[in-house]
Amino acid sequence: MNKLILNTGASIPILGLGTWNSPVEEVGKAVEYAILNCGYRHIDCAFVYHNEKEVGETLKNIFNSNKIKREEIFITSKLWSTDHRKEAVALACKKTLKDLGVDYLDLYLMHFPIAIKPGNGDEPLDENGYVLTEKVSIQETWEAMQELVSAGLVKSIGISNFNSVMLLDLLSYAKIIPAVIQIELHPYLQQQSFVNLCQRLNIAVTAYSPLGSYGISKNGNKPLLLEDKLIKDIAQKYNKSPAQVLIRWAIQRNTIVIPKSTISEHIKINSDVFDFVLSEDDMNLVKTLDRKLHFVDPEEWWKIPFFE
Ligand code: NDP
Repeated sequence: MNKLILNTGASIPILGLGTWNSPVEEVGKAVEYAILNCGYRHIDCAFVYHNEKEVGETLKNIFNSNKIKREEIFITSKLWSTDHRKEAVALACKKTLKDLGVDYLDLYLMHFPIAIKPGNGDEPLDENGYVLTEKVSIQETWEAMQELVSAGLVKSIGISNFNSVMLLDLLSYAKIIPAVIQIELHPYLQQQSFVNLCQRLNIAVTAYSPLGSYGISKNGNKPLLLEDKLIKDIAQKYNKSPAQVLIRWAIQRNTIVIPKSTISEHIKINSDVFDFVLSEDDMNLVKTLDRKLHFVDPEEWWKIPFFE
C-alpha cells in the first residue's frame, strides 16, 4: 500500500478504512476483511462512532494470530468535543486505547474545534436546538493533546474540521505542529487552496467522506456523488467503478483517503486503485464539479454555522 511521510517522520498508508456509521455487528468483520484480504493497513476510528470496542476485538484477534503485527497497522482515533477540558483529554484517550485494545495510537485528532458541555450525551442541545458549548479554548485542548505524545500514548496528533484561520491561530502557540488535518474533501467540495496551504505547511491532509458520504446523502436528499454523470463517464473510460475514480482522484491530489464500507465487495473495490492513473485532462475535468457542498455539516445538528 502506498504511503505518505508525516512531519513526525512516521509513515501513513494513503488509503484507510473509515468506520463512521459502521454498525457494531458489522464493523469487526469489515476491519478483518480489509486487513487480511485487501491489504488495508490503516483504520480510521473515533470515540463518537461508538464501535471502537468491536474494532478492538478484531484487531486483538488479528494481532494474536501473529499474521500482522501492531506496528504494521496505522490506527487513528479522535477526541470527542465533550472531552476538551485539559483534565479530560488523557482520560478520553485512555478509554479509546482500552476499547481498541492497544497501548498507543498512531494518530489522535481533535475531532471538532468546539468544546461541548459534558455529562449529557455526545451532543446535548438546549431547548432551541443549539448545541450546549463549554468555555474551553482550543489552546487548552491542544496543549493537553501534546502531553499525550510525551506520555507515549499517541505517536502523532492532528486536527479535524478546522478552517485556515483556526489552523493559523493554533500554529501561533503549538509546540507540536499537527501531523495531519482531516477534512471533508471530494469533487463537490475540493477546498484546493486550503489543501495547498496545509501541504505547504507540511501538514498531511486526509480526505473524509471521499465518496460523498453516500449513505447519508442518499437518506438526506443530497446529490449523489457516486452517481454523478461525469464521474460515471470517467469510470467507464478506465474500466473502473465511480468509487475507484473518486478514491484515485483523492490519491492523485496527494491526500490520504478513508472510504467507509462494511460490504466486502466494496472494501475490495475501494482498495483496487493502484493500477491506473487519471490523466491530467480527467483531473481537470473533475475540477469543474466543485460546488462547495458539505455532506457533513454540523449546522444541521448543532445549529452552528461551522463553514460560514
Ligand atoms: P464515504 O464518502 O466514505 O461514503 C461511505 C458510503 O459509501 C457508505 O454508505 C458505503 O456503504 C458507500 N460505499 C462505500 N464504498 C462503495 C462502493 N465501492 N460502491 C458503492 N458504495 C460504496 O463516507 P463517510 O462519511 O463514512 O466518510 C468516510 C470516513 O471518513 C468515515 O467513515 C470516517 O472514518 C471519516 N469521517 C470523519 C469525519 C470527521 O469529522 N473527521 C466526518 C465524516 C467522516 P456500504 O458500507 O454499504 O458499502
